[in-house]
Amino acid sequence: MAKRDYYETLGVSKSASASEIKKAYRKMAIKYHPDKNPGDNEAEEKFKSCAEAYEVLSDDNKKARYDQYGHAAFEGAGGGGGFGGGGMNMDDIFSQFGDIFGGAFGGGGFGGGGQRQARVKGSNLRIRVKLTLEEIANGVEKKVKVRRKVQAKGVTYKTCTTCNGSGQIMRVTNTILGRMQTATTCNTCQGAGETIDKKPSGSDAFGMDTKEEAVSINIPEGVTEGVQLKVGGKGNEAPGKNSIPGDLLVLIEEVPHETLKREGSNIHYDLYVNFSEAVLGVSKEVETVTGKVKIKIDAGTQSGKILRLKGKGLPSIERYGNGDFLIHINVWTPQELTKDQRKFFESMMRDDNFSPNPQKTDKSFFDKVKDMFS
Ligand SMILES: [Zn+2]
Repeated sequence: MAKRDYYETLGVSKSASASEIKKAYRKMAIKYHPDKNPGDNEAEEKFKSCAEAYEVLSDDNKKARYDQYGHAAFEGAGGGGGFGGGGMNMDDIFSQFGDIFGGAFGGGGFGGGGQRQARVKGSNLRIRVKLTLEEIANGVEKKVKVRRKVQAKGVTYKTCTTCNGSGQIMRVTNTILGRMQTATTCNTCQGAGETIDKKPSGSDAFGMDTKEEAVSINIPEGVTEGVQLKVGGKGNEAPGKNSIPGDLLVLIEEVPHETLKREGSNIHYDLYVNFSEAVLGVSKEVETVTGKVKIKIDAGTQSGKILRLKGKGLPSIERYGNGDFLIHINVWTPQELTKDQRKFFESMMRDDNFSPNPQKTDKSFFDKVKDMFS
């Protein structure tokens, strides 16, 4: 069966902003929430497909893949992370809600759903981290400061007496079809199963403080611009003994390097040699991302030659081994000459050794570039 377009599912246009997508999803999630539609399978399916659409459209990477390839982007072995054959499971969906409904106690009425234990997740925090090429090559531990909501010191919670901690009120009604049991979210605790017992002065209405905290992030080798890393549990805490904190989401940014250019896991470097060095040959020291390397330039080296240092590029994040470090040789032609030098070059003007004589085996610049990418 063909899957519905994710944008259509959420009722937004393809150009919708992140906040419009979030708003649309919030509306759908409330409309089709199982608590509101007990026993309604169609509503549950809609609830799940909205959650799946939001999971993709709220993630810049997944959204880009979806925009390019459609549903095919997430098909095949393993799915797109988080998708089993039947879409997302309820646990995944409810764990998103801390983020969707903000830090409000009980997540705006969604502490849980179905038969699961009431559990509230704090909202996620997002930061950007700038990395140099050297840091990307070697991996790095970054210490950052984040302002996160934490449970205030001395705050205590007690089990909600209205629902006895389940977060739900079961109601039995007699109908023409017999006794019907329906579950509704507890109004007292908004589904969290807990309420505030005591809270210190100075904390907010939910017994929370905002604190600056140092978090260290282990950044693996080979990350690329736009990659998002997750530090579990370092987002905002939520109120309640049974709550779990949100995550810290780290967006990677690359600082452009002064002399090196990255292309996937390969690195390109322009090396300038003077005319005599190209003619006579020379040894040079080149700074790669993992340290200095000595290279030998043969006598008679042509401008445009590319030296490939295998494995001296960046590690691939998928661990297929390292990329290469490619040195592009540029022969610097002198622009000013003394009288004697001018005489020398004039005398070489018609010399056989100076007249270009490319061999059939010498590849043109374009062939070399083609080889490099194949
Ligand atoms: Zn309650």
